Amino acid sequence: MKERETLKVNNLGHLEIGGCDTTELVAKYGTPLYVMDEEHIRKICRSYTEVLSKKYPDSLVCYASKAFSTKAIYAICKSESLGADVVSAGELLTAISANMSGENLYFHGNGKTPYELQLAVDNNVHAVVVDSEFEIDLLDFICAHARKKIGVMVRVNPGIDAHTHKFIQTTKVDSKFGFSIADGTAEQIIKKIREKNNLEFLGIHCHIGSQIFELTPFELAVEKMTDFIVTLNKSGIVVKELNLGGGYGVHYTDEDRPLEPCQYVETIVDKLNECIAVKKIKAPRLILEPGRSIVGEAGITLYTVGAVKEIKDVKKYVSVNGGMFDNPRYALYEAKYDVALANRMLDEKTEKVTVAGKCCESGDMLAVDVLLPPARPGDVLAVFTTGAYNYSMASNYNRNLVPPVVLVNGGESEYIVRPQSYEDLMARDEIPSWIKK
Ligand SMILES: *Cc1c(COP(=O)(O)O)cnc(C)c1O
Repeated sequence: MKERETLKVNNLGHLEIGGCDTTELVAKYGTPLYVMDEEHIRKICRSYTEVLSKKYPDSLVCYASKAFSTKAIYAICKSESLGADVVSAGELLTAISANMSGENLYFHGNGKTPYELQLAVDNNVHAVVVDSEFEIDLLDFICAHARKKIGVMVRVNPGIDAHTHKFIQTTKVDSKFGFSIADGTAEQIIKKIREKNNLEFLGIHCHIGSQIFELTPFELAVEKMTDFIVTLNKSGIVVKELNLGGGYGVHYTDEDRPLEPCQYVETIVDKLNECIAVKKIKAPRLILEPGRSIVGEAGITLYTVGAVKEIKDVKKYVSVNGGMFDNPRYALYEAKYDVALANRMLDEKTEKVTVAGKCCESGDMLAVDVLLPPARPGDVLAVFTTGAYNYSMASNYNRNLVPPVVLVNGGESEYIVRPQSYEDLMARDEIPSWIKK
């Protein structure tokens, strides 16, 4: 656990988040429970906007909302002067329902449907970030019918792959995302957009990966993207906006050593200012899209310990009342998490255990070979850094209910996502008439 003012052990030896004792949260709301620390979210948002207002005022931080998409988070982002990027009709409508203005929304995705493009046009999103030729024709057609013009960015692939712990620079581009700069496709696509009557080409976008700790890949991205701007300028194409994506790493376990979130932004902006001066290009509006770094460490999940099972001399399993239905990240890619017994934070961690989920999949784990005090049924188990890509990836697998989400701040707590009920779960099920009779 990475301690902070709003995440610490209180004088009862309990874990406290946002001024709330987690054992009291559990008594009030039950488990499993997602808890989000509002102050921490706002602190990160501000650290970004402060750096930008000082060093690159013509800019917008867009929260990559696939990390955690609920009305409350859009409302928080709006109040911190952030925009958002959305990748589906559901995310777009949630943002709009939280009064985010279309002007501050960017619509991403490599497989947008006609319906989703229509929604983007109807809600006047600032830009659609196109990622296929098909989409360009379709969007132009939709705009023609709506008698509207829409802003368009192009997702390009700068040939930097930073998805793993070691980033690689490639000219071979095999990602499903983006048009290659190197082989000329990106420029061709931009020219095609500029020929469309109802599309306004605004600029270029890249997102080089996620959970990145080093600064170099980001600097390299700035270098390649500004080189591309120079190339486009030579063809008489003006680039008004430059969107550099997100991907700043967060702390899951002590193996992760991220820099302060704002250091990534600072490095990017310094590099961009340098490139603008050296390459003599007109400064574009800068868009950054952090997702995980805004909500990841702000969130924890609380569970109740059930069975504790020992396979003699091999392994000890601590089962909890959650699992891959509320956090599929271990099952998906063996993601690592830090855990603790929230009701016994001062007890010595003397046992190596594996925290198992309750789903019928042997890969359903939450943390493998982690240290805990000897766990007993009824203990409260906390998993840290679950604010990003947990609730947003949750499912009803095994007909488990998606846990509610509570927002905490200054000792107060309130639902931002109410609990599902079993009625909700069955509400849309039908038995066909020929089986009923
Ligand atoms: C996922 C994504 C982001 C955010 O990535 P994080 O690692 O969560 O910061 C930003 N931009 C695009 C296009 C994305 O797909």
